[in-house]
Amino acid sequence: MEVSAVPASRFALPKRASGVLDSAQRERALAIVQALVSTPTAPYAEDGLVQLLVNMYAGREGFDVLVDEHANLVVVWTGGVAKRGSSKRAHRTLAFSAHLDHPGFLVEGRRQGNWTASFHGGVPAKLLPGATVRFYKPGRSESVATATVGAQLPTGRMVFALTKLRGRLAKGCFGVFDQPHGVMRGSRLHARVCDDLLGVAAIVSTLEALADTNHPARVAGIFTRAEETGFVGCIGLLQAQGLLTEVDVIGLECSPKRPFAKVGSGPVVRVGDKRSVFDPYLSLELSAAAERLEARVPGFRWQRALMDGGSCESTAYNLWGVRAGAACLALGNYHNCGPAGRLEPEFVDWNDYEGLVALLQEMAVGRLTSESPTLKLQTRLQGLYDSQTPRLALSAKRILSSLEERTT
Ligand SMILES: [Zn+2]
Repeated sequence: MEVSAVPASRFALPKRASGVLDSAQRERALAIVQALVSTPTAPYAEDGLVQLLVNMYAGREGFDVLVDEHANLVVVWTGGVAKRGSSKRAHRTLAFSAHLDHPGFLVEGRRQGNWTASFHGGVPAKLLPGATVRFYKPGRSESVATATVGAQLPTGRMVFALTKLRGRLAKGCFGVFDQPHGVMRGSRLHARVCDDLLGVAAIVSTLEALADTNHPARVAGIFTRAEETGFVGCIGLLQAQGLLTEVDVIGLECSPKRPFAKVGSGPVVRVGDKRSVFDPYLSLELSAAAERLEARVPGFRWQRALMDGGSCESTAYNLWGVRAGAACLALGNYHNCGPAGRLEPEFVDWNDYEGLVALLQEMAVGRLTSESPTLKLQTRLQGLYDSQTPRLALSAKRILSSLEERTT
């Protein structure tokens, strides 16, 4: 039987703009998001996305493309530095990091005449039977088959029988939930994969903006593989050494919305995750960038929160000794888990996304042009201290002399 078409997508900018990006930047942001989320991915099947990004940057003036032994990808904007020598202030390289995979299936083979597939990533096993899955060959954009997830097999792993097969499966194929690549409804983007292709897209949009202005410092985009199975690609990259020296990383994610971090209330400066808290100075730097944007752009909103609905690669970076902070988008239907146990597209707010792109750009530029936020905060606290020291000294004298009286 013929394979059916992917459910219809609709990529169109929301009519009302927040004013954070200009119209050309918005159009470009949407085109980047569309290209990325229309490329199917799963843990260990990120081929199409790696190819797409390498094609985008390889041989391009001002960019270096590095692929490590695990096929993680690092794209470095170097252009401005090469032309003008060292930047105004000596700085560590700023790097933005996001992962290329999303929970999905890998075809295992046949068992008693039926195809089977294993599932990789954080979705409860009980939600999977009955789901329609669309299968691809790695690196190819045309689907080769669809099937329905049958019973979980007694393997001790998440392995399922496949039923109602249409098309031709082969070992090595991977599967994704059969949902539209993306549908914009109002200001919400509903997509099979927001986590983490919106993080990836935000980095690409930021690198493009930095190239436009010939940004005079190195800025890297790190694109990792197999995050959903335990930061596997990222840890491989961290252990490879050499690629990540003298860098400050900002990990980008789509993270489950919380009562205190809502979809539509702006990008989130993420001070920590379920497992750890992040670098205080990078968190402060991100917040300072958000405050500058807020003062300058009336439509810009932002939030600051410890997003404990999941853990992210910034935890791994910090554990392996690479300074990391984080930013994220508040995400609905995390890992496609909708209300009442239904599998549905994830969603984010498009204005939050534009805000995230603006925030990353502001952080990169502000590193070179704005007062150091740590110095600024310390100066403010020092000022408070200076103004209060006479009172502190006077009362200290009294307390200390009363203690002396007691002991004599
Ligand atoms: Zn993620």
